[in-house]
Formats: sequence, C-alpha cells, structure tokens
Amino acid sequence: MKACNESLKDLAIIHDEENMDTFVSLYFDGRDEHFIRNREKAVESVLNREELETFMKTMEKIKTYLEGHKPSDIAVFASDKHDYFEVVSFPAEVENALVVDTAPYIRPLAEFADEWQAYTLVLLNSNHAKIFTFSCGEITEEEELSAHIKNRHKKGGMSQARFQRLRKGSIHAFLKDVVEELTRTAEKDIILAGPGEAKKTFYEMLPKNLQEGVLSVVDVDMGGEREIFEESHEIMAEREKEERIELLEVIKKDILTNGLAVYGIPATLNAAKNGQVEVLLVEKDYKQRGWKCEHCQSAGDGILASCPVCGKETAEADIVEELVRFAEETDSLVEFTSNEDIKRIGHVAGLLRYK
Ligand SMILES: [Zn+2]
Repeated sequence: MKACNESLKDLAIIHDEENMDTFVSLYFDGRDEHFIRNREKAVESVLNREELETFMKTMEKIKTYLEGHKPSDIAVFASDKHDYFEVVSFPAEVENALVVDTAPYIRPLAEFADEWQAYTLVLLNSNHAKIFTFSCGEITEEEELSAHIKNRHKKGGMSQARFQRLRKGSIHAFLKDVVEELTRTAEKDIILAGPGEAKKTFYEMLPKNLQEGVLSVVDVDMGGEREIFEESHEIMAEREKEERIELLEVIKKDILTNGLAVYGIPATLNAAKNGQVEVLLVEKDYKQRGWKCEHCQSAGDGILASCPVCGKETAEADIVEELVRFAEETDSLVEFTSNEDIKRIGHVAGLLRYK
C-alpha cells in the first residue's frame, strides 16, 4: 500500500490508448458495502460488451482484495486489461466513489495530497529527541536520539558551578547531534515541540535556512505524542490556507502586470500540457464538461466527437480532472481552493515556470 502522494504521477500517466473505459477507481471508506453493489449495477448497465468484460474481471480482483484485507479509507485503481492494480491508503475518512473511465480518476487523491502535505516534527527535551517525518498524514520516518546526562550531582562531588557548566556543555553537544540529524532529513516545514527551554536553545543552534523553515514552536510534554500529532496537522492546515491566499495574490498581481500567470480553462490546460505550470490552483468541487483523447493525449472543453489532432473517437471528460492529470504528470504543485476569487478568474489558474 502506498501513501497518497507517492503514486500520483504514475496514476496521472497511465491510460487506455483506445479511449475505452477500462480503468476502475474505487474510493472506499470500508463500511458501506451496498455502495459498491449499487454502483456496480449502474455501471454494468451502460458499458459496451468489451468494456463490461474488463470491468467484471477488474471488480472480481478488487472484491477479492477487499475481502482479504478488510481495509478502510483507501483507494483502489485497477484495470484487468492493463494488468494494473494499485492501492493507496488515507489517514482520514474517504468519500465513497466508484468511477469507470479511460484512466484512473485522481482528483480526490490530488486534493488529499494537497491537504496533507509533508512536514517534519521534532519533539525534544535536553536529553531526548524524536524526529518524525510525516507525509500524507502518516509517519514515513522516525528517528530517536538520546544523551545520558546526569541531572543531579553527588554531595561532596563537583562544585555546583562546575557541574552546571559541564551539564550545559553536554546538553549543547546532544542538541548539536539533533541539529545534524535534522539537517539530513528536512529543509522546511518544521515544527518544534517539547517541554521547557531545550526547544528554544535548539532553535537558536539551527542554521539560518532551517530556522526559516520552522513554522511553529509548541510547548508539550514528551509523552504527549498524540496531542502534538493532531496539533501539527492543524498548524499545517493553517499554513496551507495562508499559502493558498498568498498564491492567489501572486496570480492576481501577475495577471495585472502581464507576468507569469495563466488563467481560465483553455489557456491553463494548454500550459499544463506543455509542462509550463509550476503551481496549479483549482476551484474545489468545480467540474466542467469536456472531451479527451487518450490516444494522443489531447483534451479540451465543450463536446467533440472525434479528436481534432488524431481523428480517433473521443471520450467524455471532466476537463478539470484532465487538467489535474496534465499537471501531476509534469510535476506541478497542485492546490485546491474554495476562495471566491478563483471563480472570477475562471475557476482555474496557474503560475508558469516560463513563458
Ligand atoms: Zn487524439
């Protein structure tokens, strides 16, 4: 099973070159079994014979997987025709959907990946540290470091002042190890947490670029992992929200100055297809009818029966899904927003890498 952002690019590339509906995308919470049966019936009633055969074989594989694993909050992308089977897990509740199309349906996955971006959490005190790397809401890496510092000096031993100096020195040495470890694992989106002063001392010791990458410093007990995981997600969600607002401001400014912005479906789609889009901003829940040709990887809005590029019969499409696919395929950062301004700009917009 993969985390939600690991397979996006692969899923964006794979498709049926004959424009046949041979890919099944199932987003499933693991509870409502009637949902699958009902969608299956509906789909079976509209597919042509060849597609129906593939669909039934694909569903057999999916159902066998579900029975064997009893998973919850996952997505399965499968096609018997293409011998393709990929399962992605989600850290939060998934809205049920079963889509049959010429390619995997990735928009809900892209929205999830946008909402649950990667970050690093450092939980530390003066002699113990844990570094967690989160991706898509799940821990993908965990490092633990500890130092052995005696907290009390024996009676008749060292003088208090000398002991305090040594203790400070060894705390410093320990924190330096943690700084080195963090330098190896993170560049930005760092959250520092822990009890007392150690996290502040640690912050001061970080190189400037990592200091700039620290989003928040949180006071918490070393045992409060659950609590800090939740709080970290909230911090990241807040940060994401701010970033989206900033992005929209940059796009608006670039539209005014005729800079590196692109907006509206046709222009943005074209730029994404050319690999020019650095960041794509999409209105959440917006859909628009369009057409696509998987044979030559063309797409457009409106209705077209045959492909203007290669002449093949087209498939019906949600043009925003196609836009997201082009963007993921060309390594754009894809963001979703409910901000009213994106509607006025034309439902989608992007910042270009070059013009
Ligand atoms: Zn074509």
